[in-house]
Amino acid sequence: MTFTVKHYIHGQLTTGQSSDFLPIYNPSEGSVIGEVCRGTAQDVDAAVQAAKAMFPQWQSLSALKRARILFEFKALLEQNKSNLAALISREHGKVLADAIGEVQRGIEVVEFACGVPHLLKGSFSHTIASGMDCYDLRQPLGVCAGITPFNFPAMVSMWLFPLALACGNTFVLKPSEKDPSASIFLAELLQKAGLPDGVFNIVQGDKIVVDAILNHPDVAAVSFVGSTPVAKYIYETASSHGKRVQALGGAKNHCVVMPDADLTQAVEGIMGAAFGSAGERCMAISVVVAVGDEVGDQLATALQASIAKLVIGPSEDPASQMGPVISEAHRQKIIHYIESGIQQHAKMVVDGRQALMTKHQGFFLGATLFDHVTPQMTIYQDEIFGPVLCMVRVSDLQEAVALINHNPYANGAVIYTQQGANARYFSQHMHAGMIGINVPIPVPLAFHSFGGFKHSLFGGYHMHGEDGIRFYTRLQTISARWDYKTPAKQQHFTMPTLE
Ligand code: NAD
Repeated sequence: MTFTVKHYIHGQLTTGQSSDFLPIYNPSEGSVIGEVCRGTAQDVDAAVQAAKAMFPQWQSLSALKRARILFEFKALLEQNKSNLAALISREHGKVLADAIGEVQRGIEVVEFACGVPHLLKGSFSHTIASGMDCYDLRQPLGVCAGITPFNFPAMVSMWLFPLALACGNTFVLKPSEKDPSASIFLAELLQKAGLPDGVFNIVQGDKIVVDAILNHPDVAAVSFVGSTPVAKYIYETASSHGKRVQALGGAKNHCVVMPDADLTQAVEGIMGAAFGSAGERCMAISVVVAVGDEVGDQLATALQASIAKLVIGPSEDPASQMGPVISEAHRQKIIHYIESGIQQHAKMVVDGRQALMTKHQGFFLGATLFDHVTPQMTIYQDEIFGPVLCMVRVSDLQEAVALINHNPYANGAVIYTQQGANARYFSQHMHAGMIGINVPIPVPLAFHSFGGFKHSLFGGYHMHGEDGIRFYTRLQTISARWDYKTPAKQQHFTMPTLE
């Protein structure tokens, strides 16, 4: 065992009460490279108590001073971008260039959070009555918790804590147990940036830690990103304990290709969106909807040719375009899905199982393409979260939109077309949170909000952007009378009205 990833509580790395550890793999090699503490309810309590104790001091600091720490954090992230990306790539298996992109998207949320003095400004109504004004404030909530998935170990946590901290909250993070090292790297940069100890804490582990967070009376809000069944559980459990919750779930993102689309542009976009990060992205395209058989035939041929050129290899090899999947268990799950596609008579165009890497021991799988997939098939219904692309054929745009709207997931949806009227119809009628028009992965920048509809998000708030500020604050309205001239009135017992 080469290293142990610990908890980070009140500025200290600690194994806390944990006596149990979980393995960390290098998916490119298929071997265990370290271990992570499996936290307990006592560890969660220690982290929450540290965060609770620091809340009064942190929320009393001016928003400008909090932002200055985040400016410093952003500078440190820029300096350490490639080291952080290398950590992510090693434990996740995504190629280095992709990991650098992930860190960059996280940095952009920190940039947005640096503007918090402006974002927290309230409204003011002057002289609503004689000598009386009314104004509102955005107050922090207290101790906020974040529970994050394996597929973006740095970016998703940076969707959460920069805004939570900027708004004056303290924070407890529960990273994915599969690639936890990035979380400690971020904690150390925050400390170097001048964040007081206890404001940001990490408890490593699995469901035990999650349940302790959901049940802890001093946790005010929970942000979750992960699969739909867990998101639903988090939303229901945390809400029933009176916490504010945003719980982002899984996805099945469709890409409609119209007969008027630029097919070269569409194929390039689909290849990156379907097979980048081995399909392990919540905004990955997993279903292509070809409008008309001519488009379907052309796409099948072009995608097959592009897949043949896809370079699959270890994440640290600069030549690799696609790395391994996260674990052997996940690879087997994807292989079972491919087998179910064959059994249910989808047309196999490219079989990714044949590209199983024999020269590497890691969790590799090639890209798979199925054509003539129908909505009744398991490969269409389930989120596979791997390099498997399904093509469905429909006769027109209306049928495409109806098909997608029938799907319970609704994170992103994309259309390739050269006609504005098609694009407009699509965006107007599509029930999904993020729409792409000739854009394969429509992930909004930090100053817009990120989130889906239906089974892709439980709760009323999206991530970052204005919704992020709203989620991490509560509105307080103050009515104040400062009037030395008007004599005090007699007591009255009716509802006060203003004059
Ligand atoms: P996951 O749901 O298995 O795990 C997410 C987090 O929940 C982890 O920290 C994990 O330790 C914890 N967890 C797992 N099982 C739990 C349980 N039974 N009870 C309590 N906590 C539990 O997800 P994952 O495999 O890490 O990530 C992939 C999933 O995340 C995919 O479904 C993907 O679509 C989704 N995702 C969604 C978004 C989005 O923005 N909607 C973004 C990234 C990933």
